[in-house]
Amino acid sequence: MPETKIPYKIYLNENEIPTKWYNMRADMKNKPAPLLNPGTLKPMTAEDLAPVFCDELIAQELNDTDAYIDIPEEIQDFYKMYRPSPLIRAYFLEKALDTPAKIYYKFEGNNTSGSHKLNSAIAQAYYAKKQGLKGVTTETGAGQWGTALSMACSYFDLDCKVYMVKVSYEQKPFRREVMRTYGASVTPSPSETTQIGKKILAEHPGTTGSLGCAISEAVEVAVSTEGYRYVLGSVLNQVLLHQSVIGLEAKAALDKYGVKPDIIIGCAGGGSNLGGLISPFMGEKLRGEADYRIIAVEPASCPSFTRGKFAYDFCDTGMVCPLAKMYTLGSGFIPSANHAGGLRYHGMSSTLSQLYHDGYMEATSVEQTSVFEAAEKFARVEGILPAPESSHAIRVAIDEALKCKETGEEKTILFGLTGTGYFDMVAYEKYNDGVMTDYIPTDEDLEKGFAGLPKVDL
Ligand SMILES: *Cc1c(COP(=O)(O)O)cnc(C)c1O
Repeated sequence: MPETKIPYKIYLNENEIPTKWYNMRADMKNKPAPLLNPGTLKPMTAEDLAPVFCDELIAQELNDTDAYIDIPEEIQDFYKMYRPSPLIRAYFLEKALDTPAKIYYKFEGNNTSGSHKLNSAIAQAYYAKKQGLKGVTTETGAGQWGTALSMACSYFDLDCKVYMVKVSYEQKPFRREVMRTYGASVTPSPSETTQIGKKILAEHPGTTGSLGCAISEAVEVAVSTEGYRYVLGSVLNQVLLHQSVIGLEAKAALDKYGVKPDIIIGCAGGGSNLGGLISPFMGEKLRGEADYRIIAVEPASCPSFTRGKFAYDFCDTGMVCPLAKMYTLGSGFIPSANHAGGLRYHGMSSTLSQLYHDGYMEATSVEQTSVFEAAEKFARVEGILPAPESSHAIRVAIDEALKCKETGEEKTILFGLTGTGYFDMVAYEKYNDGVMTDYIPTDEDLEKGFAGLPKVDL
């Protein structure tokens, strides 16, 4: 390891875990557009949202003004079990790339759920418990969110019903068992247990499901079961708020050594880890105190930012959820089954969508074989087996570091390593066997999704 003052891992102390979440929206001049009631097309009020979401979470969802929100002590205590998460200087990767760039990553995979999702799951379970609810329902795609939520619910003794996208349910039996071990019930979606599930199955027999279908089912069960609410692990403002702990810790660690990143990179599915990682940096950018280049990385097979439309759309396939203004491929868009790397949601956080629309951040898309190539390179030199989702960020971090090698620039790069990939070995197997392929939707494929966008004139 080269001689330097900066250690391989920068740990914060337990008492440096944030005690407040940071709400980027407070510093945005153009606020994200409000959620709309799908019936009236009027902005959703707290009252409209109350049958679906927990009260305190609704307040957070609609709060565009308070920059800081206290993290309740019970949540701070839980965070202490696995936070602060390490900020790692990727010395070995830098060496392998022979780059003058300085690369740092914030590693969120060091908890049993294997990803950053626990940061929001524990907050959402806490508020559900505080409201005296019996349980919560949710959907899960690759399984990380369901796992995180089942851990959080077992901690607060809440019932947890998970609708798991059928293709993942079948491909990832071990994820399913982890959830059941923490006490959750797991149903493959679409299922016969809901009206919307039956309808989707009748229209698309044999479908392997999508996140949008699973959301519709979970919402239906929440609103029709006494003492239950629905919770969501990404996309929503409240989730980005909870995930701000990632960025706040990363910034505090870098500040200890006077390091300022030039480029901040994160993978983008619904936008929660990226929104959380960039929060305090974006805050400085919005307030005109500092500038950073911020890059969202998405799969070429599900390119919401780079090829989507900025429009109001349904958040779910069943069209029961509120409309959100976001970069979207259309709620009917179902990514190719060949796509292994997660990040399959058709839309994107409305906060990040607004920031992207206003030019505060960039986006790029990458193909999955190049993502796995980056994942493998990273695993071999840095030791951590990355989640395919996280590896989208690794890909672009490596590409930016290689550009520095060409130009000789010593840029500082920070990226989010959102999780580990132990449950993704079927995808790694495909890559190792050389049978992984890339799929990029044609413009015509995308037009089909856009055709289903609701007509909203505002
Ligand atoms: C869920 C997940 C993502 C993508 O979700 P975002 O809300 O966009 O952060 C990325 N990485 C991992 C490991 C995940 O579990």
